[in-house]
Amino acid sequence: MTETLTNRSLIDLDRDHLIHPVASFRGHEAHGARVLASGDGMWLTDIEGKRVIDAFAGLWCVNVGYGQDSIVEAAADQMRRLPYATGYFHFASEPAIRLAAELTALTPEGLNHVYFTQGGSESVDSAVRYIVHYFNAIGKPDKKEFIALEWGYHGSSAMGAGLTALANFHRGFDLPYKWQHHIASPYPYRHPQGHDDAAVIASTISALEAKVAEIGADKVAAFCCEPIQGSGGVIVPPVGWLKAIREACDRLGILLLVDEVITGFGRTGPLFACEAEGVTPDFMTTAKGLTAGYAPMGALFMADHIYQAIADASPLPVGHGGTYSGHPVSAAVGLEVLRLYREGGVLANGVMVGERFAARMEAIRSHPLVGDVRYRGLLGAIELVANKDTKEPFAADLSIGDRLSQMTWDNGVIARCFANAVIGFAPALTCTPDEMDIIFDRVQLCLDQLLDQADIRAAI
Ligand code: PMP
Repeated sequence: MTETLTNRSLIDLDRDHLIHPVASFRGHEAHGARVLASGDGMWLTDIEGKRVIDAFAGLWCVNVGYGQDSIVEAAADQMRRLPYATGYFHFASEPAIRLAAELTALTPEGLNHVYFTQGGSESVDSAVRYIVHYFNAIGKPDKKEFIALEWGYHGSSAMGAGLTALANFHRGFDLPYKWQHHIASPYPYRHPQGHDDAAVIASTISALEAKVAEIGADKVAAFCCEPIQGSGGVIVPPVGWLKAIREACDRLGILLLVDEVITGFGRTGPLFACEAEGVTPDFMTTAKGLTAGYAPMGALFMADHIYQAIADASPLPVGHGGTYSGHPVSAAVGLEVLRLYREGGVLANGVMVGERFAARMEAIRSHPLVGDVRYRGLLGAIELVANKDTKEPFAADLSIGDRLSQMTWDNGVIARCFANAVIGFAPALTCTPDEMDIIFDRVQLCLDQLLDQADIRAAI
């Protein structure tokens, strides 16, 4: 298509042809697309010239902000030299090898092997496939059941969406599969003893033990969790929770798959959230911040003992692979992003601006609509409630999420507005303290405007 498209025709063509992720088809037709045209630092500009500040790093991924020229150069150089190399048939490319080596030097001790994917869903899907393969390889073919958390999100592949426990991803898709089980989330705000960290941790551990006992320890393959549940509404478990989970998995003889697709690459402070708890999972899934959204790529890290067991048991090819595994352009992007995190000061800036983030999150706690404030590093959420004392949620027909989504856009800020009145934040780690203030001033304005609406006043 060569003719110049007007903004209106772009929106019409989108409506007629483009299927959007996680959208009601008719709902999107009625709403129309918000077409983004360019990005610079923390800022996005749409095709009408409207500028908004992005408090969500695209989709929890653009951790280094928009417009990083050194990444563009790295991608262009690699495209000119070698745009594609397969990993099949023993082929490889230099960026993929270097990225594998640099990453495994930074992952928790013992995670020395990596399989590159196209994103988070494929990382999770690959983990499940390798876990099944591993138990067959070591002669324990009955260990095939997986346990995950309510409110968890693990991607949109059939297997990952089944491990997910968000109704939207199951409805109409015949999920979860019968080998996929869920236990209650460590959700302090909605936990009867939420103020007591030890009690929250203990309740997950006893739920896990009970579920393993119910299924049979000889049948359970793995427990799968995010260190902080992102798409479920940024649910932050108490410090020490993941470590307790690691110990419980060892005791129960099951593997631990930690999904760091959101929490990886500095989002919560350290490079990986596992690091803060001194935890080495058996499998760790990542994506998003790996390439900061500049090119699609995910990485699945596999512990040495798993790798060695598969290597010893499977002389035949392990039948798992993708055309774009270890894609050289994505790998070149990943290498430059990793350099920016460490030598470019991006991780350090994230930790520094995390203080302003925490201060502004704490300040918003007193707003009449805010029931809960939760965060770690530059990942956080506020939960709005109809009654701060009883924690009563807003009625679904008030469509708070949709309203906030429009209001934040109208007020020039992008945040993730969940249907259950949770607003999620994941600004780029390059954000400045002043930009953080702009984000929170605008969010505060949205909350005040919401509070001014007659039906909301009546509901609280
Ligand atoms: N796991 C987690 C924890 C995620 O947050 C996501 C994406 N939001 C995924 C898996 C799936 O990643 P992708 O969308 O890149 O397939």
